[in-house]
Amino acid sequence: MGNMKDQENRRRFLLTTAGLLAAGCQYNSGRGPISTSASSAQADDPQNLDSDDFNPREEIVGKGSKAEFLYGPLVLRQTWTKTTPRSGDGLNWFDGSPSSKSRIKSAVPPNRITVHHDAMHWAGGHSFAKSVDRLRTIRKGHLGRGWNDIGYHFAIDGRGRIWQCRPLQFQGAHVRGENPRNLGVLVMGNFEEQKPTRNQVNALDDALQRFCAYYKVPGRRIYGHRELGQTACPGKNLFPEVQRIRNRIS
Ligand SMILES: [Zn+2]
Repeated sequence: MGNMKDQENRRRFLLTTAGLLAAGCQYNSGRGPISTSASSAQADDPQNLDSDDFNPREEIVGKGSKAEFLYGPLVLRQTWTKTTPRSGDGLNWFDGSPSSKSRIKSAVPPNRITVHHDAMHWAGGHSFAKSVDRLRTIRKGHLGRGWNDIGYHFAIDGRGRIWQCRPLQFQGAHVRGENPRNLGVLVMGNFEEQKPTRNQVNALDDALQRFCAYYKVPGRRIYGHRELGQTACPGKNLFPEVQRIRNRIS
């Protein structure tokens, strides 16, 4: 009979696993403040990019930094959350093997990349504030599963902004059983239902190319989540783009 700690770990693992099997990367459409409108047609229009909502903070983040070199202009984590990942148990819960403070694993150097969607329908424009709201919602959901932080390392919104999420010094929590040295990239939207914007696809393409070049990850080591787990993620409308991009990267 295991001790109390083991039992608690097992309980949390089972809960986490059950939740993930049921939902994958998916969140119910309409959950959180994102999908407030039943009308969604304009969400997919790549021309429908706000120009008047530009937040000046966006201009200063990542400029001239290594991060910018690696991923293009990057919206730093501190722009959308003031909190750092909690230390201690929970960072790697997705694997059912919680890290302790002394055993936290790094995501770098990565040897593969996995692309996800969040399965939340995106409606309306692509304001900075809206992306902030969505990232906070996702992070809250992941914390609610017992993880210590948002599970992805980067996120790309409909306008093509690339957002820093979980810092790379921490292993991600985005593919059950396949997280070690696996960089997680979230593309915001539900791509079973809608199409990614041109800006999103271009940003994903650019980021994956830079990443593969810098870390010497071959294109064939870029995956859609569905190739590593039982899920539709990253959606039937995004997965072909992932295939197209990786086929061009040697
Ligand atoms: Zn996924």
